[in-house]
Amino acid sequence: MSIILHGVAIGGGIAVGRAHLISRSMDDVAHYELDDDEVQAEVTRFDEAIRATRKELEMLWGSIPDNAPAELGAFLSLHIMLLGDPGISREPRDIIEAQNCNAEWALKLQSDALVSQFDSIEEDYLRERKHDVLQVIERVFKNLDGRSAQLPTSEDLVDDTILVAHDLSPADMVYFKDSNFAAFLTDVGGTTSHTAILGRSLDLPSVIALHHSRQLIREDELIIVDGQQGVVIISPEDTVLTEYRRRLRAWRDARRKLGSIRKANAQTLDGTPIELLANIELPQDVEVVKTSGAMGVGLFRSEFLFLGRDTLPSEDEQYQAYRTVLESLKDKPVTIRTMDLGADKNPRWLNHGVAENPALGLTGIRLCLAEPLMFRVQLRALLRASIHGRLRILFPMVSSVQELRQALAQLEYARAELREEGVPWSDTLEAGAMIEIPSAALVAGSLLKYADFLSIGTNDLIQYILAIDRNDDSVSHLYDPVHPAVLKLILHTIKTGAKAGIPVSVCGEMAGDPRLTRLLLGMGLRKFSMHPANLLAVKQQVLRTHLDEIGSIVGRMLRTEDPDRIADLLEQLNAG
Ligand code: PEP
Ligand code: MG
Repeated sequence: MSIILHGVAIGGGIAVGRAHLISRSMDDVAHYELDDDEVQAEVTRFDEAIRATRKELEMLWGSIPDNAPAELGAFLSLHIMLLGDPGISREPRDIIEAQNCNAEWALKLQSDALVSQFDSIEEDYLRERKHDVLQVIERVFKNLDGRSAQLPTSEDLVDDTILVAHDLSPADMVYFKDSNFAAFLTDVGGTTSHTAILGRSLDLPSVIALHHSRQLIREDELIIVDGQQGVVIISPEDTVLTEYRRRLRAWRDARRKLGSIRKANAQTLDGTPIELLANIELPQDVEVVKTSGAMGVGLFRSEFLFLGRDTLPSEDEQYQAYRTVLESLKDKPVTIRTMDLGADKNPRWLNHGVAENPALGLTGIRLCLAEPLMFRVQLRALLRASIHGRLRILFPMVSSVQELRQALAQLEYARAELREEGVPWSDTLEAGAMIEIPSAALVAGSLLKYADFLSIGTNDLIQYILAIDRNDDSVSHLYDPVHPAVLKLILHTIKTGAKAGIPVSVCGEMAGDPRLTRLLLGMGLRKFSMHPANLLAVKQQVLRTHLDEIGSIVGRMLRTEDPDRIADLLEQLNAG
């Protein structure tokens, strides 16, 4: 029987392939049903994981140095003993047999049951043993290194693999960037979460916020992913499969046709030139930039160089990465954003603990100013690379003039250090600020006294104006790029820049959404930075627009605060 799921469409066309369920920890366990004839093999897989865990613990016990504290031996003996307890080594087997489920799921059910038993114990010492039990279970879980326990290696992935995960962190996505797979699905995530953004940059069909895909999809099951409509069909009927294969061909044809405008100058019908730039995450993305027809890089999210690794990249390593991008784009502008870490982008090496409210915590430029030595390394690497092209440095998450001045002071320190060492940098280097926080938009005029340019990060700007967590799919229906308050702040920023004669771009997802191109043009935007995959669709909108003809509708959109009216006018604008 086929099942249809609806989620949030991230784009990238249509894929037909086989599911591969992935999970990263006990909190994120895949559940799938087994056929009767698969159950015995699953029990054996579980027994092997128990055996491997025992071997591991015994080896650790045998290698305890003589001078180690006595507690260490006692602790490992306790873990060996707990592993032998039927609660861990037998009961999950019974669950597999009774429920025809995978071993990870059985272990998770048993773990939940044990945790609640421990929580009801009154005696402190015994209650605390819960953590030992969980550690042992986690070890068994890691040793269940079969189909669904871990992130797959790139060799495991083939062209028609469809990854199905509860969630994929930005770091996971970096890991997948060079792998071959056809599509990905997640149960959580908002339209502008970093998982979604990276999904778009991979240009693969993807659907997020599916809620129950992990429970409903079984390993290796045939599925259709429609990244345009946000639809997933599990075990499709043959007729449906044929229809989607037809749609896939049509989608590819449409993409191919768009290719004919790749070399066309991006200008409106009245001859106004529009700058269309690319967003990238890693130096290797520069190859796609070159074939996309982009006029340069409007946003290089440099923090992705810092994710998915155990140590901070050195100054030289960073210098090489920035230099690669600058050299391969020769004299095209390259805007590199200094590391925008924190919130959902937490590298393993950063030990700042878990914030109560991470999106309002130590992120972006705040984190850099709190860690000036780490920041200085990046600034030095950027300055050194600046001689290899047209570099612009962009500071993320600026909320005030003081912060921008402090960031510029750090840049000045880095310059002074290099000057002393006799290391050159380019005099034409520019430095700008992102407008992602409402306070920054409101004081854009003051920021422009210090910044050479501004770039509006609509993903965060919308999150902070509307108080909508961009990663939380339960509120993603409220995440509204054409909310009148959002339009007012974007307009204010664009107008402030125009008055000062200083360029303002948009580099959030709004810039890559062809449904919003004419609106942004009408608001005075002349610089758009987006995923290369969206560039031609946006260019197509630019080429069909006469600025004089859209002025009146856009004016009406900006004067009304009625959301329905805005939606109607947007439809008219795009139809006209
Ligand atoms: C933004 O907030 O719009 C932006 C471009 O930055 P990021 O999506 O990386 O937070
Ligand atoms: Mg941002």
